[in-house]
Amino acid sequence: MGIKENLLLLNNELPKRVSLVAVSKTKPLKDLLEAYGAGHRIFGENKVQEMVSKFEALPKDIQWHMIGHVQTNKVKYMAPFVNTIHAVDSYKLLKEIQKQALKNKRIIKCLIQVQISQEETKFGLPKDELNLLLKNASYLPNVKIIGLMGMASFTLDKDKIRNEFKELSSLFNNHNGLEILSMGMSGDYLIAIEEGSNMIRLGSKIFGERIY
Ligand SMILES: *Cc1c(COP(=O)(O)O)cnc(C)c1O
Repeated sequence: MGIKENLLLLNNELPKRVSLVAVSKTKPLKDLLEAYGAGHRIFGENKVQEMVSKFEALPKDIQWHMIGHVQTNKVKYMAPFVNTIHAVDSYKLLKEIQKQALKNKRIIKCLIQVQISQEETKFGLPKDELNLLLKNASYLPNVKIIGLMGMASFTLDKDKIRNEFKELSSLFNNHNGLEILSMGMSGDYLIAIEEGSNMIRLGSKIFGERIY
């Protein structure tokens, strides 16, 4: 099935409260243009350089979401246009986003990535550091923390995935003023939505398997 058909099916199936980030990493421009042609405007990338070159080549009403781990020295390249940065997990990174957002006279929306999986490969802030980071972020005028993001363990154990999403969902519900709960990928988005996600990040479900 094609990209257009996949998006159509998803848009029919997803509850209205859930926004869809089309994760286009590694995919060629023509695939993004096909999604764009179907009316899609929110794209997610996990490498700054790749996002910058796609931004330059594509229509300017696309909202670009950085979903990958970001190195501090790369923030400046995306600061002029990035819509939302999903994987913020340190004050050091937030301070750099503040600096570059100010330079560009922008307010950049960010999500704090919280560690919900026990896997060591997953980035994210330990749960017990969330309050302090949110407090510190509140003093940065050009950074707006709009919510939380998390990735469940890479496992077939659905109960484990559900429990990790539940944990993030309850953290989200216990903090006033957060609007976005970004959780759910192609393999686990249905569970994520059941557990309260209102932003899912789907790559292979839309564009097909990635070939690296
Ligand atoms: C690649 C990626 C996705 C999408 O993965 P799929 O399994 O292809 O849907 C979602 N979130 C993050 C952070 C990613 O890196």
